[in-house]
Amino acid sequence: MNLQALPIENFRKAMQREMRISNRCQAVTGSLTLEIDAKAKEMKKKGLDVVGFGAGEPDFDTPPHIRQAAKDALDQGMTRYTPASGLPELKKAICEKLLRDNGLAYTPQQIVVSNGAKHSLYNAFQALLNEGDEVIVPGPYWVSYPELVRMAGGVPVIVQAREENGFKLLPCEIESAVTERTRAIILNSPNNPNGYVYSRKELEDIGKLAIKHDLTIVSDEIYEYLVYDEAEHVSIASLSQEIQERTIVINGMSKAYAMTGWRIGYTASPLNVAKAMTNFQSHSTSCPNSIAQFAALCALSGPDDHLKSMVQEFDRRRKRIVELINATPGLSCIAPKGAFYVMMNISALFGKRISGTPIVDSMSFTQLLLEDSQVAVVPGIGFGADSFVRLSYATSMENIEKGLERISAFVQRLTD
Ligand code: PMP
Ligand code: GLU
Repeated sequence: MNLQALPIENFRKAMQREMRISNRCQAVTGSLTLEIDAKAKEMKKKGLDVVGFGAGEPDFDTPPHIRQAAKDALDQGMTRYTPASGLPELKKAICEKLLRDNGLAYTPQQIVVSNGAKHSLYNAFQALLNEGDEVIVPGPYWVSYPELVRMAGGVPVIVQAREENGFKLLPCEIESAVTERTRAIILNSPNNPNGYVYSRKELEDIGKLAIKHDLTIVSDEIYEYLVYDEAEHVSIASLSQEIQERTIVINGMSKAYAMTGWRIGYTASPLNVAKAMTNFQSHSTSCPNSIAQFAALCALSGPDDHLKSMVQEFDRRRKRIVELINATPGLSCIAPKGAFYVMMNISALFGKRISGTPIVDSMSFTQLLLEDSQVAVVPGIGFGADSFVRLSYATSMENIEKGLERISAFVQRLTD
């Protein structure tokens, strides 16, 4: 067909015509965190002075020795397909890391390397769930969990942890959500978005529940190194062999090594699950990016001096952001124990107005704050918690001070 010959109106219509999409796809919404981040970045590109507390992405660069490893891999021609589940030497390095840092014994055959921890979670739910299987999702939850469960035909069952409990989900709250369709529970400690870190004892209680009700635990440990004060990360799989056998450990390079764009995540799981995920992956993405795998190998087996200073810096920012929020009348937050997010309670502002427009929920607060004061936060509704907005403190101290100053000025201008 000669497109040039088409009358321009017909051409436009043809371009706008919609194709039928699957019910499965229609049920999925886009990632709110990524959407807000893209919007803030776009506004900045246009020259607007936006302070972004949006997507959780370390503002540090990938350490130089890791970048060098990628350049070396490229120069040495490591540019071909790798085995579907990842490079053998990387899987071995992951096993060594799991033993060293988490006290977990796995063989390389139990490791599947994927295109980011998000992809690892995707594979895990595809491997686990049949149509209608329920997955307990502790809330406030990371935005992608319910969608990832739905994409695999599952049903997310949200159980909200309460702010007055520090966002810790109690065993009785978990147990009350168990039905005969419950297949799995997601555990994300340290938590995005609420910063809770489960203690060994609390994990033991969750482990017991999982055994009692025959649940699989999907344990997302991507923020494991980002813990503050007396908090300690414990991998639930390390508590006993019985628990390890029913756990899929999820981890990745994005947060600890400032490698968000490299897209490397991994799972450690029972062998049959690893095999199922590998088969799935072999047809969907063939293998993870080869260069990024060599970078990950260097990250896991090389020095990690950057980690200590990065955690110290996050901790400094955490303390400052908590202090500034709690010093603002109408706003409050509890101090997170881990990761790099804080949930700011905005419910005292509901019903108040800015330039005549009311704040009625987390979405309206977010929109008005962005338009009025050029500060990007993520509405709590994306995490199933509409009384809050999430701020990521993976941004400079200067931005934290500037952003909170703007937020405070915004709140003070609200009228009844
Ligand atoms: N889990 C949690 C809780 C996260 O916050 C993120 C951040 N994107 C991920 C998984 C996925 O990380 P990635 O895909 O970048 O490895
Ligand atoms: N996990 C980060 C966040 O919650 C990155 C964005 C995303 O993958 O959703 O902001």
